[in-house]
Amino acid sequence: MAYDDNNVFAKILRGEIPSKKVFENEHALAFHDIHPARPVHVLVIPKGKYADFTDFTTRASAAEQTGFYKAVTAAAKAAGVLDAGYRLVANTGVNGGQEVPHFHIHILGGANVGPMVLR
Ligand code: AMP
Repeated sequence: MAYDDNNVFAKILRGEIPSKKVFENEHALAFHDIHPARPVHVLVIPKGKYADFTDFTTRASAAEQTGFYKAVTAAAKAAGVLDAGYRLVANTGVNGGQEVPHFHIHILGGANVGPMVLR
């Protein structure tokens, strides 16, 4: 998937459109999803230009990847779901149903999120 500088998360990173920030570090930003699918629905995105999971894990440096994954845990903690549990989702590409072409992980929680989509 090609990276598009005009995608909505690139605009959030540039401060061109607002977001409700949950956590931020050097390599990642976490904010509330605008259309929450569960009581807690947070998105975590790397600050670098990576189109999807494959692109991120292939091209991002070790420091970027570590910083990103630590931000996922920190965002889950800040959102208050660490102890009760949560689900991580990374829609990837066309068959994965990815809509925004900037890599992101969904954190879903705040209640039992239900069965996996494949069941
Ligand atoms: P995906 O289908 O995995 O690409 O998920 C994209 C997510 O981005 C969806 O859950 C949208 O609700 C969310 N989204 C789209 N625009 C915004 C926005 N401006 N701020 C926060 N979340 C957004």
